[in-house]
Amino acid sequence: MLLLNPGPVTLTERVRRSLLQPDLCHRESEFFDLQEEARSRLLRVYALDPAEWTAVLMTGSGTAAVESMVASVVPAAGRLLVLENGVYGERMAQMCAQYRIAHEPLTGSWMDAPDVRVVAARLDAAASNGTPFTHLAVVHHETTTGRLTDLKALAELCRARDLRLLVDGVSSFGAEDIDFADPSLAAVAATANKCLHGVPGASFVMVRRTSLATASSRTYYLDLGRLAALQDQRNTPFTPAVHAYYALVEALREFEEQGGRAARYKQYAALAEQVRAGLAAMGIEGVLPPAQSSVVLRAYRLPEGLTYNRLHDELKAGGFVIYAGQGDLSRTLFRISTMGNLTRADIDRLLTCFAKLR
Ligand SMILES: *Cc1c(COP(=O)(O)O)cnc(C)c1O
Repeated sequence: MLLLNPGPVTLTERVRRSLLQPDLCHRESEFFDLQEEARSRLLRVYALDPAEWTAVLMTGSGTAAVESMVASVVPAAGRLLVLENGVYGERMAQMCAQYRIAHEPLTGSWMDAPDVRVVAARLDAAASNGTPFTHLAVVHHETTTGRLTDLKALAELCRARDLRLLVDGVSSFGAEDIDFADPSLAAVAATANKCLHGVPGASFVMVRRTSLATASSRTYYLDLGRLAALQDQRNTPFTPAVHAYYALVEALREFEEQGGRAARYKQYAALAEQVRAGLAAMGIEGVLPPAQSSVVLRAYRLPEGLTYNRLHDELKAGGFVIYAGQGDLSRTLFRISTMGNLTRADIDRLLTCFAKLR
């Protein structure tokens, strides 16, 4: 069975076997070697300077890392504008409400790119009303629709206004380009089990050390400042998902050997294009134009007369797990991710299954 859902992904045998390493106590030096290797390899994914950036690991799925980032990086007196154009943007706004972080959502159509001029106007209006925003939060790859957001344009807005940018990079980190050199970028939250091809259970926040210095600690378990401080001292506050760390380290070794982020991007782009072209030839269209889409996952329109459930079940019988649209979108679209250990031949077989449907 091959997984074409947005994580967990189809593992390589090498990563799967890494789960069978020795039982390990998280207070022993071997665990801290593992933790250190994961943290330094995560910095290398985007060639980050360890003096400026740190990778903070935690146990939990991608949402834990996003929650840790949102609840920690915005200082007590900070104010956050949250861009919402899908499920994951809404989730960040809900986190702000729950932690009582001063924030406002900026809601846009799920089918359109965020309008940079509207964002700028909202930031400027707040500043002239005496309630300026200090931070902007955005989902890099909105997995709801497969939209890749233009981080550069938003970072420019932030830089011009001395705001800091928080990025949910859960489904883009490791594959899509992220400009960590932009001084407005404060943090990116991500996970082991999407573009890095590890298993669920380990997630992390890449955070600028200067932003850690002004962090607040609204949350106990996910307190980014405490996690960072202890991990810098080869320590950990709680029992981590040791086996998920084994798999993350093995996945990162493999990632580097395979050519790093540029190679992964190329691989995903080729597979995503193969799916797009193959489905288009059968009259199944993408929801977004390729230029606005990630290479990680794409949404397609359900053909007339075909329900998602039937499509799902027939493809599953052929050995593929696809993904429904979220909420109301489940009636009109389906999603196909090209993350994980997949080849061109796998996509050929997937397209053959589609052809048999009609
Ligand atoms: C997968 C994903 C998450 C996290 O979801 P989990 O179920 O916690 O792994 C967050 N943001 C985006 C954009 C995602 O694609």
